[in-house]
Amino acid sequence: MKITDIKLGHISVPLKKPFKTALRTVESIEDIIVRIETDTGHIGYGEAPPTGVITGDTTGAIIGAIEDHIKKHLIGLDISNIEEIMLKLDKSIVNNTSAKAAVDIAIYDLYGQLYEAPVYKLLGGYRKEITTDITISVNDPDEMAQDSIEAVKQGYKTLKIKVGKDSALDIKRMEAIREAVGYDIDLRIDANQGWNAKEAIYILRKMEDAGLNIELVEQPVLAHDLQGLKLVTDNVAIPVLADESVFSPRDAITIMQMGAADLINIKLMKTGGIHNALKICSIAEIYGVECMLGCMLETKVSVTAAVHLAAAKNIITKIDLDGPLLCSEDPINGGAIFEDCRIMVTDDPGFGFKGIRSVNYI
Ligand SMILES: [Mg+2]
Repeated sequence: MKITDIKLGHISVPLKKPFKTALRTVESIEDIIVRIETDTGHIGYGEAPPTGVITGDTTGAIIGAIEDHIKKHLIGLDISNIEEIMLKLDKSIVNNTSAKAAVDIAIYDLYGQLYEAPVYKLLGGYRKEITTDITISVNDPDEMAQDSIEAVKQGYKTLKIKVGKDSALDIKRMEAIREAVGYDIDLRIDANQGWNAKEAIYILRKMEDAGLNIELVEQPVLAHDLQGLKLVTDNVAIPVLADESVFSPRDAITIMQMGAADLINIKLMKTGGIHNALKICSIAEIYGVECMLGCMLETKVSVTAAVHLAAAKNIITKIDLDGPLLCSEDPINGGAIFEDCRIMVTDDPGFGFKGIRSVNYI
């Protein structure tokens, strides 16, 4: 099974409601779809979101990285030699992790099809079903409490609350949400780099003292501020999860060696795909650091790849793969099955995609 062509297209899916974090507001998913064709007629699909504020990757940069750099190194390579493909993909251009992730995902889709096995089984096969949280966007406390009640009514047991936009309000937000949903629901919070270290310690201790029972706090401080991250980790009881601070396996080693965070959030768009995400899983196993598997604003193509990885690995204990659940429609046939908080892999070869409607190929 040899690679004969790599085609790119745009996919556009409106969100059910605007997605708001400390960094941005987004109303629809506008991603790049990668379609890798082979001499056997098998097709692999991948996806890259242009998450400029986190990865630095824009739509134009994703297209340029694949068209001008990655493509020429991969045409003609045999899918069975995935090691050679991944080495060439990694060396074809620095950074550009979203473009690399989209290609990596399409390659793994084909790798599974080649051996007629679902990818989660090739990666470990630990389980078939996972449970995701759902994101509550940052808004006024009352609106967030209302959104939280709705999510709980839909069956979600864990809510990921976006905070970090106004520290005085953040405590009010969490008090309103905890009061609205009661204590049977797990609340994790994501500040998306919105606080400095001392501010984070102050706010988190207030939340601890108020008995808000926060499961974990994600990325309280700026991505590059590892000393600040460690300061927070050392000074609050709430477990600290590093997200924007960890892209590569090297970043993960640094954070784990420093003890700068209690948990690591793996996202394929930061690691550059499954190949590097597996390395972070191995490092985390050695250090005994549990991982979350998260996503950007992505549709079911790239999130299905994340679901297979999460299903495969025991060290991934927390799931934040709500991208497809935030979408107002699902243009992908096949892939993982999303039923509110439950996500199931299928045993179809690769990722089990049967086609994508409404992709505008370039
Ligand atoms: Mg995050």
